[in-house]
Amino acid sequence: MRPQILFPLFAEVSTLKGVGPKVLPLVQKLAGGLVRDLLFLSPSGLIVRRPMTATNAVEGQVGIFEVSIDRLIVPGKPGAPIKVRATDDTGFVHLIWFGGSAQHIDRLLPKGQRRLVSGKVERFNNEVQIVHPDVYGLDQADEIAAVEPVYPATQGLTSRVLRKLVQQALALAPDLPEWQDEAWLAKTRWPGWRAALAALHAPNSEMDISPDTPARQRLAYDELFAHQLALARRRRARQITPAPVIQPGEASRLLLEGLPFHLTGAQQQAVAEIRRDLASGEQMGRLLQGDVGSGKTAVAALAMADAAASGFQAALMAPTEILARQHFQRLGPMLEAAGVATVLLTGRDTPGERRARLSALASGEAAVAIGTHALFQDAVRFDRLALAVIDEQHRFGVNERQRLQAKGDPRTGGVHLLTMSATPIPRTLELTQYGELEVSRLTEKPPGRTPVATAVLPLARIGEVAKRLRAAIDAGAQAYWICPLVAESEASDLAAAEARAADLRRILKIEVGLAHGQMPGAEREAVMADFADGRLPLLVATTVVEVGVDVPNATIMVIEHADRFGLAQLHQLRGRVGRGAKTSACILLYGGGDEGLGETARTRLETLRRTEDGFEIAEEDFRLRGGGDPLGLRQSGFPAYRFADPIRHRSLMLAAADDARLVLGRDPDLTSSRGEAVRTLEALFDWRNDRPGAD
Ligand code: ADP
Ligand code: MG
Repeated sequence: MRPQILFPLFAEVSTLKGVGPKVLPLVQKLAGGLVRDLLFLSPSGLIVRRPMTATNAVEGQVGIFEVSIDRLIVPGKPGAPIKVRATDDTGFVHLIWFGGSAQHIDRLLPKGQRRLVSGKVERFNNEVQIVHPDVYGLDQADEIAAVEPVYPATQGLTSRVLRKLVQQALALAPDLPEWQDEAWLAKTRWPGWRAALAALHAPNSEMDISPDTPARQRLAYDELFAHQLALARRRRARQITPAPVIQPGEASRLLLEGLPFHLTGAQQQAVAEIRRDLASGEQMGRLLQGDVGSGKTAVAALAMADAAASGFQAALMAPTEILARQHFQRLGPMLEAAGVATVLLTGRDTPGERRARLSALASGEAAVAIGTHALFQDAVRFDRLALAVIDEQHRFGVNERQRLQAKGDPRTGGVHLLTMSATPIPRTLELTQYGELEVSRLTEKPPGRTPVATAVLPLARIGEVAKRLRAAIDAGAQAYWICPLVAESEASDLAAAEARAADLRRILKIEVGLAHGQMPGAEREAVMADFADGRLPLLVATTVVEVGVDVPNATIMVIEHADRFGLAQLHQLRGRVGRGAKTSACILLYGGGDEGLGETARTRLETLRRTEDGFEIAEEDFRLRGGGDPLGLRQSGFPAYRFADPIRHRSLMLAAADDARLVLGRDPDLTSSRGEAVRTLEALFDWRNDRPGAD
């Protein structure tokens, strides 16, 4: 419910003076449809106006001239500008209009009259001219502000009109109760909310336009705080959904003993975090993040064994057939040995197999199901599903995850959710995209992994690379060769990859497999399987090699045109090698011919050479992308913040997330006086029905 005090801000912009049918759609498009949206429209710059004369006018600056009108020059040919020649005591000032009516201009500036004109000074034939000047009578001198904010105008909607609308919105803004923590405000010395908005819309100098002014920081923090509150509330809503109490038991102990290794510290911690959730009686929603090879599967297996030990069922869903099979081949025997009956469910089971497996799940005879999309089909029934594990979660839609979760028994409560991702993401993205989930991170790699020696070479040295590749393959190694998708034309990319595969076949005289995005899924999986089973020594691929597939014998990866990949993507690709005990190498080939390497591309490849820590690489990647949105983060669910810049205001976001948790922890229903103020803030931003792209 929206507090009454906010009503004026949630009025339609059409209620403001000067918003007629022509202007309305433009304002709606530019700022939004509500008075609040105008209030939240940040100036993009400012105008400083200085009194000038025709002789001392400074080009490029905005001047105010007191002139008398000399003559109107109506253009002879259509399309040419209308001009008015004016003079002050020192010389001519030419006023120019492209389009517009001569009568109108003549009425505004009658010959012989004195006027104040203002605008950006240009010089043409060494005479001062102003295009589309603002015009005032001499008695209006008070109305001309020396400094004024500039708003992001658009065709048909000038900054001046916007300025007037924003001023009206500002006048409607009520004083609101303070929602920020007092101690925090004292520390930051930020102004109150209303004062911050007033300052936002009244910049005095260029410095006031920067995102780092106290006023803008305050507003950014308010926004981040409101968003984090909305996410924290969703998290709470999930937490108060009852779910089965799951505790470790005999099966968990046997599984742990049966693992051929000791858990790393990071794995132990993740297991402890998951166990705390599973035993809480509240529904778990947890994201397990860790690089490829960080050992997420063992963590998930333990959680599934816990479910079985507590008399429940668990399901592990993988995005591809080959991944599901790999999980089943590895985990199946270990789970069985721990007394946990496990079945595989994919799209390719024979009708007989399928019937038997479905009935084992429905009767509860099987405690764990490992499979693909086949798992959430209607025919699949569980006896008492309590835990859903989603591997490579980004490959599934929200709906698909929910369909699996919906297979629980409503009488035992909600189904716990553990999602896993091999794409480490920076904390800021984690907070905005997964803010409603708890997160565990595997920051440590299992021991015995050899670092991948990474080299950056120009494409011109491809001959050398081929020679080394041949020697390694002769010695029994397997290798990936990645050709990028440049997206200009898939067909030509594919042709390039096919040509490369043919080249390599000819030069190396070995069998070379080819996997690309346009192949039918089954065919691609067959090639991948041949490679995984060691039947193919070399695999050329255009698309990202199947995430998560483990081929320990593959020790070399060559990436062509590495400069065309993103940092995180290169890291993902490289993660495909270095999975066994043998030394591995990754060769990043850049450019074609003598092409140099751009600054950002160089930094990217250097970062990759320096570190293999996925979280560090993710932070660096995020930083290198800068404040813009070149990767389409917005489309991928990144909220369209008005004030906050996730990169610049990173530390504010972290603080806001902590603050939101703290506030809701202390006062879950927001009934204290701060709680009430906080609700006003939430309503002010209203993340539920915001602009497209927002949350
Ligand atoms: P991912 O996080 O990519 O899913 P996996 O779970 O497939 O990683 O683990 C990668 C490999 O590391 C597997 O072969 C697995 O058996 C092994 N592994 C996992 N945990 C450990 C550990 N603590 N010590 C040694 N090897 C481990
Ligand atoms: Mg995995």
